[in-house]
Amino acid sequence: MYSLRKKLRYSAEIAAFSLIFIITLHFFSLSSIPTGSFGSEDGGSNLNVIIDPGHGGEDGGAVSLSGMKESEVNLDIALRTRLIMSMFGVTVTMTRDTENINYPSEAVTVRAKKVADQKARLDLIKSLDNAVLISIHQNYYTSAKPFGAEALYAPTAGSENFAINMQEILISALNENNYRKASKIPENIFLMNNISCPAVLVECGFLSNPAEDALLKTDEYKLKIAAAVASGYFTSERLLKETFFGGLNESENDFLLY
Ligand SMILES: [Zn+2]
Repeated sequence: MYSLRKKLRYSAEIAAFSLIFIITLHFFSLSSIPTGSFGSEDGGSNLNVIIDPGHGGEDGGAVSLSGMKESEVNLDIALRTRLIMSMFGVTVTMTRDTENINYPSEAVTVRAKKVADQKARLDLIKSLDNAVLISIHQNYYTSAKPFGAEALYAPTAGSENFAINMQEILISALNENNYRKASKIPENIFLMNNISCPAVLVECGFLSNPAEDALLKTDEYKLKIAAAVASGYFTSERLLKETFFGGLNESENDFLLY
C-alpha cells in the first residue's frame, strides 16, 4: 500500500513535470516574435529577462527550520531557471550569480551594504530596455502551518496578468492544494516598488513549513520550481511583449487597469 502510494506520487511528479514542458513548448511555439537576443539598436522587439535571486552576500534572508539560508535556495532556483530559459533561446541577465556580493567601500554596516546592493540591482534593471523582472525568494512565517508558492506583482503595467499566469502554473506544477492567489507586492519591498518594468516576485515556498523545507533541499523540487517559473514566463511572453510593443494602442488604459 505504502509503495503503491509512493509510486503514484512519483508518476504524478513526472506527469506534472512533463506538463510544465508541454505548456512551455505550446506557448513558445505560439510566440510569433523570435526570442533570444537583446533588443537591437532601434529598440528591438525582444524582451530583456532579468532574474533576481533575492538576498545574497551579507544578507542571507530567512533561515529555514533546518538551517538552510534563503539566499542559497534563491540562487539555486534562479540558476536552474536561467538554464531552462537558455535552452529556449532566452538570454537572461542575473542581478547576481554567486553568493558573494562586492559592496562599495563606503558601505560599512549591514544595512548600508544591503541598501547599496538593492540600488545596484535597480540601476542594472533600469539600464535595460524592454526589461522583465523575475525575482526569486522564499517565504517565512512565525507558525509552521502556511505553505505554497505565491506570485506577487509589481505596481507596473503587465505585472498583474504575468503574476496570475505564474500563480496558476506554480499551483498545477507544485501543489494543487495551494489556495494562494497572485497578489500585489507590499509597499515596503524596495526593488519591486521602484522599477518601471513588468515584474513578478515568486515566493517559491515557506522555509518555516517542515514539508516545504524538506522539499526545497532536493534538486528535483528546485528543478520543478525552475521549470514552473520558466513556463510562467513563456505563458506570459506575448502579453509582456504587448506591454512594450503595443498593438492594442491603449497604454493609457493599461495604467488605470494595472
Ligand atoms: Zn526573501
